[in-house]
Amino acid sequence: MKEISRFRKFLLMVLFLVTQLGTVLAQQSMDAVLPPDPSVKIGKLPNGLTYYIRSNKMPENKVELRLVINAGSINEDDDQLGLAHMAEHMAFNGTKNFKKNEIVSFLQDIGVGFGNDLNAYTSFDETVYMLPIPTDKPGNLEKGFQVLEDWAHQVTYLDEDIETERAIILEESRLGKGAQDRMMRQIYPALFAGSKYAVRLPIGSEQVIKSFKPDVIRRFYKDWYRPNLMAVLVVGDVEPAMAEQLIRKHFEGLKNPANERKRETVKIPGYLKEEAIVVTDKEATGYSITLNYPISSAEEDKTVGGYRRNLVRQLFSSMLNQRLQELAQQANPPFVGAGAGYGAFVRGHENFRAVAVVGTGDIKKGLEALTTELERVNKFGFTASELDRAKKSMLSSMERSYNNRDKTESQVWVDEYVRNFLTGETIPGIEKEFALVKELVPGISLEELNATVKNALAKVHWQKTINWYMLPVLNQMQTPVYLHQLICWQS
Ligand SMILES: [Zn+2]
Repeated sequence: MKEISRFRKFLLMVLFLVTQLGTVLAQQSMDAVLPPDPSVKIGKLPNGLTYYIRSNKMPENKVELRLVINAGSINEDDDQLGLAHMAEHMAFNGTKNFKKNEIVSFLQDIGVGFGNDLNAYTSFDETVYMLPIPTDKPGNLEKGFQVLEDWAHQVTYLDEDIETERAIILEESRLGKGAQDRMMRQIYPALFAGSKYAVRLPIGSEQVIKSFKPDVIRRFYKDWYRPNLMAVLVVGDVEPAMAEQLIRKHFEGLKNPANERKRETVKIPGYLKEEAIVVTDKEATGYSITLNYPISSAEEDKTVGGYRRNLVRQLFSSMLNQRLQELAQQANPPFVGAGAGYGAFVRGHENFRAVAVVGTGDIKKGLEALTTELERVNKFGFTASELDRAKKSMLSSMERSYNNRDKTESQVWVDEYVRNFLTGETIPGIEKEFALVKELVPGISLEELNATVKNALAKVHWQKTINWYMLPVLNQMQTPVYLHQLICWQS
């Protein structure tokens, strides 16, 4: 009797230890940091400049070069509104080694459009220059690196070039890049109200662009175009050792400014109240509706656990999108298409959002259908068979990517690495991702998913917002109406 009891005690203890150990192991593996894809070499020069190199023969005889500056309009001072964007334009107006027409003819030579945001862009938090270089002609690659280096620290900023560029920027400011761009300029200040983002739209202020003194834009360039905020990326048909040599040759000599300014990141306080806006533009081609759920800080996805959380979210969106797609395929559908999911907001923030494109159809009907479906999911969750389908489709799509892993174009890789540099997005590589998906997906339960749904959608009810803010505007609209974009958000 005594023996048995001792044995049971021992057994219980072992079981306890095993369970504990199991928990600890699982915990550790969830906390394990995902290392970057071994096919990409990531390095840092002593001056702080980060570089990425990957050899890839899809397509052959082409190398994608990028110069990424981790600074954008958010870093402008009050007297510089619009000058991050203008600094990007100035890169095409002449540098130490290339007169204006020489840059233009080189870009035409290698078959890329030039200037005015065709192979560069400026956003709130970054400025990115893109050069796809065909390497069939000897000397192209070296010349491409020289252009990149010049952009990084040797743009000339001649007074007369600044004067000519003012007019171009003012024109862009007046006309925008089309209806979408013009509408976003009305939406952003409202969407980001209460944060610096609301007053740092990349297009800036006409007043500043008309009247700033040349030294004010030179100051922006000096402060923010510096190696410890830069990355150079080289992906394509190139020997990695040669790429690294070119990076060292062209970028090791760059210096950070004395008394460098702090590169601040900006927090959005979150929405203080629910609100909606209706934005119109004569050239918009249809209605669309966006419902923005509360914003939160973007969660790190550097670990296995973070990767798993993203998989859960992807399954959630894929099931929801399946339902929305079925609605769009009905006879007499409420919208042309709709989608929902988690997405990056501005840097460091994320939210859940749902979008419906109504086209020239009935906007109120589209709005009603979208919110009804969201309420239904919130209330009842998903079914086991929906989850099963979503898992199968996730596994097979990952398997497809894995099987096509040698066919990925350099441009796809380089875009991923740009995001890795700027936002820390993980780049574990397709082999590792396929293994993770196979390992983690089967263990994701319906309960866990439906809890995620509650977490994302609970407490947000659109009807009140729509009734209070949107319907009055919609009801006043004349027929025929301008086409609109509707945006709601809630705290
Ligand atoms: Zn522009």
